[in-house]
Amino acid sequence: MEKARAFAQSALDDPNAFWAGEAALIDWKTPFDAVFDGAKPPFSRWYKGGVTNLSYNAVDRHAEGTPDTPALIFVSSETGTEKTYSFKDLQSEVERTAALYKSLGVSKGDRVLIYLPMIPEAAFAMLAATRIGAIHSVVFGGFASGALADRIEDLEPSVIIAADAGLRGGKVIDYGALLKGALAQSKHQPDHILMVDRGLVQDDTLSDDRRIDFHAARDALADPTADVEWLEASEPSYVLYTSGTTGKPKGVQRDTGGYAVALAASIKHIYDGKAGETFFATSDIGWVVGHSYIVYGPLIAGMATVFYEGTPVHPDPGIWWSLVEKYKVSIMFSAPTAMRLLATRDLDFIKKYDLSSLRRFFLAGEPLDEPTARWSTEALGRPVYDHFWQTETGWPIISAMPGVEDHDLKWGSPSFPVFGYEVALIDEGSGKEVGPEEKGLLTIKWPLPPGTMTTLWRDDERFKNTYFADFGGETYYQTFDFAVRDAAGYITLLGRSDDVINVAGHRLGTREIESAICGHDSVAEAAVIGAEDKVKGQTPIAFAVPSSADASTDGLEAEIKSLVDKQLGAIARPSRVIMVPLLPKTRSGKILRRALQALSEGRDPGDLPTIEDPAVIEDIRGRI
Ligand code: AMP
Repeated sequence: MEKARAFAQSALDDPNAFWAGEAALIDWKTPFDAVFDGAKPPFSRWYKGGVTNLSYNAVDRHAEGTPDTPALIFVSSETGTEKTYSFKDLQSEVERTAALYKSLGVSKGDRVLIYLPMIPEAAFAMLAATRIGAIHSVVFGGFASGALADRIEDLEPSVIIAADAGLRGGKVIDYGALLKGALAQSKHQPDHILMVDRGLVQDDTLSDDRRIDFHAARDALADPTADVEWLEASEPSYVLYTSGTTGKPKGVQRDTGGYAVALAASIKHIYDGKAGETFFATSDIGWVVGHSYIVYGPLIAGMATVFYEGTPVHPDPGIWWSLVEKYKVSIMFSAPTAMRLLATRDLDFIKKYDLSSLRRFFLAGEPLDEPTARWSTEALGRPVYDHFWQTETGWPIISAMPGVEDHDLKWGSPSFPVFGYEVALIDEGSGKEVGPEEKGLLTIKWPLPPGTMTTLWRDDERFKNTYFADFGGETYYQTFDFAVRDAAGYITLLGRSDDVINVAGHRLGTREIESAICGHDSVAEAAVIGAEDKVKGQTPIAFAVPSSADASTDGLEAEIKSLVDKQLGAIARPSRVIMVPLLPKTRSGKILRRALQALSEGRDPGDLPTIEDPAVIEDIRGRI
């Protein structure tokens, strides 16, 4: 591991030289004046003065160099569709979509909100926005009206692009109706709504004057061209909302130049991907993995990306592995939940396919437990790289770097910090770095490397106050994860330090779910925790206090669940709603969520010296 660690260290010893070297992985219209400008901590500006374009780097430069090489391989196991777009094909789809945006008056800095399932139009919509300097924000299709409305209000898009419906395991999800519900709740209204009509919904649920048929309008364009808008490196490319400790989602803002370089560098050194090969990330464009490793990363590197609509087990658990064989996938990226799901099925579904093309297999998004790591390693017959990162960072923080060197892996650990991240584990009480094998808050010494979030959308103050803290006179970025480092330097993650839970690799803020539940007239107060779940890692469990002690609570559990479905989406639905007369609180009124979590998992909550009323714990124990 000497080589990998020396490589990472070189980025910390001389960041300017290191990142100037990596910048050569992308094309620049105008070279940058300075690699790094940290004049206004904790803000970082990478590649100041450099002019480039994300979409050009992902699409056009390859359309010029390798026009007929596959770029986007679309597979829907839901509709049985497969279609491969070469870089030349992709270029023409993206440019036409950009021309459509322009015809609707969209220009640099305007926002386009994308609410689409995993269909090729979603990639066109993203790449077309960044082509013309518009800022895109993809909202995961599993989010329902309330969550969508929050994002529309915060982002104020001029255009929303949606589909009539998504499909999951054969079930139709009526996006049109969900969007209609969101628009009814939102104070902001877009000028135009572009609809991709898949013909899945019979009744036209979104009848709206602003509705334009995406394909018809694109086909009817008199001029399907749209020039690339060259941007200064730090100008925004997209906003992606993620959950935090408050009810209000945070709009993580990404730049242009630093992000392009970081993705190119990560594909090369971490994922070990090479131009002409195929990358398959099994996530969704609604998540950061979809942005970095379904759309931009592989394409920037000149790789084909598998763009997959469907589940890992439909029509059967062999589906992903059949695609690895068919499209000669070299690098794959998935989530532990998917592997746990597959581990319950017959191994023959994997073994019957030729996986010899698959050189590297990565997992991330949630803790990779040892049994799942061992099962996956055995099932695939190759090493499994656990790696750790966040929406905020946009690319990995801790990972092995097989592109630099193969080294021993440690079960339960994603290995070491990669180039550009100076990781420190800080003791919560003393603010000092902990020793080997001691638990600490995982922090990163400022500045963060290129590609990481530049701010929160329209909220510099929240960015500063939420993420940065001073320890010993130095500024650190906080990941809100606990971790421990062994004597050899391997880091193991120990869970979040805040109220964010992780359900099937999806990050959910418990406060968002609580506020949805409190929207029910019969609920006075609610607390949501993440309890251990065998397949999904964690599952939300809700504790709700009825607003009137005498009222009947019959049917309330079902009503609360369906309210969460409607407001946030089924991914946030509590698996149980437990009605309780009181929530356990400290004397200062803080809900003791960790005690509720312990009770839900059948553990003893331990000593609770600050609890106001210990009898509440016993009462709740009896109801679980
Ligand atoms: P997201 O921003 O949705 O990608 O969620 C990021 C969070 O997921 C991190 O802060 C961790 O809590 C968790 N996470 C991501 N990857 C890993 C991993 N490899 N091991 C443990 N936890 C992880």
